[in-house]
Amino acid sequence: MPCTLTHYGPDKVTIPTLAARFELLIRGGTVVTPAGSRIADVAIRGGAIAAVDPDISADAAERLIDATGLLVLPGVIDVHTHTRVASDEEPDRFFQDSVAAAYGGTTTFLCFNNPGTGISARAQGRLGDGISEWLDRTANDAAIDYGLSAVITAQQEDPAGDLPRAIESGIPTFKAFMVYDFGVDEQTLASLLGQVGTLGGMLQVHCEDRQMLAAGIARELGAGRTAPRFHADSRPPDVEAAGTRRAIELATAAGVPLYAVHLSCADALDAVRDAKRDGRPVYAESCPHYLALDASRYEGSDEDAVRCCIAPPLRERPNVDALWAGLADGSLDLVATDHVPDRLSVEKRHEGVSFDAISNGAPGIETLLSVVYSEGVAKGRLTIERMVDLLAATPARLFGLPRKGSLDAGKDADIVLFDPGASKVLSAADLHHASDYTPYEGMSVRGAVRTVLVRGSEVVLNGEFVGSRGYGRFQERSLSSR
Ligand code: MN
Ligand code: MN
Repeated sequence: MPCTLTHYGPDKVTIPTLAARFELLIRGGTVVTPAGSRIADVAIRGGAIAAVDPDISADAAERLIDATGLLVLPGVIDVHTHTRVASDEEPDRFFQDSVAAAYGGTTTFLCFNNPGTGISARAQGRLGDGISEWLDRTANDAAIDYGLSAVITAQQEDPAGDLPRAIESGIPTFKAFMVYDFGVDEQTLASLLGQVGTLGGMLQVHCEDRQMLAAGIARELGAGRTAPRFHADSRPPDVEAAGTRRAIELATAAGVPLYAVHLSCADALDAVRDAKRDGRPVYAESCPHYLALDASRYEGSDEDAVRCCIAPPLRERPNVDALWAGLADGSLDLVATDHVPDRLSVEKRHEGVSFDAISNGAPGIETLLSVVYSEGVAKGRLTIERMVDLLAATPARLFGLPRKGSLDAGKDADIVLFDPGASKVLSAADLHHASDYTPYEGMSVRGAVRTVLVRGSEVVLNGEFVGSRGYGRFQERSLSSR
């Protein structure tokens, strides 16, 4: 409702009918920040948070959302996805995964452009070409905000030469793999860590020991153990722990930060914890599947095992408990999905194929908040405040998104209204991602996403997508402010 302000002074000037001060007011919810939670109203103007206060007048707003009984969370930032870019055959898969992310409460996602995400063979030859093509092919396609962490491969010509321009154009984070045919050798990894770090960027590393992995695969195949379940036996925790320790050593020698992706086991976590204790800038993430699932998933049918052919593989239960403890005590910095929209019917076909030829990865872009809230907060392993730190505030800080990640005045109004009293059963039939399954099929979860705003506009409203293709903006990032 418009309001009238009357100024009393010598001339008693009356200003008739000022426009409302806020476009939107979210009233009565429990606003959660890393520092604490309180019932408060959130006022939005120009797509940004204008005020967070316990009692903002409804008269000051054009529109109201009643959030009574709901948690008001900062939008989730997923820093680890392998979304596929649109192609002539499958024009909707990038958009579709962005919609799925929105349904799950994610308001910004960062993508990798590794081989397999749809980048042409030609553009894979240079880091700069891979970036340009990815930007072109994702332009005006996403429903939510997004960014790129560019993948550096052994096949690229002089990737270091393309780093300054990439960082200037808002891409300060890069990923390199210690394994796979496009992974880099140790000497290259050492120089890349130094080059990226010196330019003010950060290298994300897939840490596994190449020789140990090759030996593990040869051992399993040589013994005739070719079924999907033996994927896990081929890369046990010591393969990941050795790779993680080595990457930490290389980053330490170069005097630069290291970001270890997808930690799955206690041994690798110990390496990170030791490095942090020594004051080194070593950061690490884990993923929902390592927090909710375990190696028993490889004991069933091949059909079920193949759903969890991911790298690193699911681990024995004590590792799961160790990861939760690491999230709670700060040894792990954040949770991200490692979303790969592989389909059982296409990329993950396993008939007549040994485990080492099955595409690694599982979908998860829509289930991040669900799994972390339900398995973490509802089960008492994390506080709700620590959860928003892990899913929003820290990703924003580490990945150079200063306008995002918290519910403070001046930030983008990226907001999730979450019903902690709801419960549901996860099923691929209800999800919206570009894959044809979920590794969480049949899992009961507490809580549900009701409404999601990106820069003040509803993208999901009462559980239904109401956003639009191309609304999402590419986020030019910089790590200088963190
Ligand atoms: Mn990886
Ligand atoms: Mn990954």
